[in-house]
Amino acid sequence: MSTTYLFADTHQTYSQIRCRTCTNVRDWMQMTKPQNPSNHAAPKTTALLPSLAPSDCPADVEELGRSTWTLLHTMAATYPTRPSPAQQTQTKSFISLFSNLYPCSHCAGDFRDWMARPGNAPRMNNRDEFGLWMCEAHNAVNEKLGKKVFDCSQWKVRWLDGPADGRCG
Ligand SMILES: Cc1cc2nc3c(=O)[nH]c(=O)nc-3n(C[C@H](O)[C@H](O)[C@H](O)COP(=O)(O)OP(=O)(O)OC[C@H]3O[C@@H](n4cnc5c(N)ncnc54)[C@H](O)[C@@H]3O)c2cc1C
Repeated sequence: MSTTYLFADTHQTYSQIRCRTCTNVRDWMQMTKPQNPSNHAAPKTTALLPSLAPSDCPADVEELGRSTWTLLHTMAATYPTRPSPAQQTQTKSFISLFSNLYPCSHCAGDFRDWMARPGNAPRMNNRDEFGLWMCEAHNAVNEKLGKKVFDCSQWKVRWLDGPADGRCG
């Protein structure tokens, strides 16, 4: 069951406020463009809107997602090969807190639901386990969004070692 989070400063839930980090930039611009039809500066259709905001704009759901996956996979790639019990506990807590605080409410809710299903609880006895689990978690989101599923046998090439041709140094 997903939890609803209330923010002390607004007394609103994520779902009650307009949420840029739950929306892609095209839809966000459409939602927030001025309603006055005499405003000629406002784009008239989404087709005229950019697919990417300038890099100094606040993150939309896609930019936030890319940055977050970079953090999560890099955490897994640098997770100890033999973590102490304390490291395992801290990492488990991090994932749990992350899944409650991620600033896209529907993404976070679906992620919690996915983790609650049999076989999907975080696995972090060692780096290989955690990296594979993270890849599976990301693939669950990829599948939900209709994106290509990543070959999890390649997760270390992508997030730890880089490709064999040495282009990443
Ligand atoms: C927990 C979470 C939940 C999300 N839920 C939603 C949602 O409900 N709706 C929504 O619109 N967006 C969601 N997002 C964002 C979404 O997953 C993408 O980050 C966003 O759509 C941008 O996608 P992208 O194609 O640029 O690549 P991303 O999916 O961000 O991937 C970045 C890079 O990671 C690598 N990669 C891809 N798949 C894997 C994998 N399985 N394992 C290892 N590496 C991989 C690829 O090299 C890829 O280029 C979520 C993000 C997170 C972190």
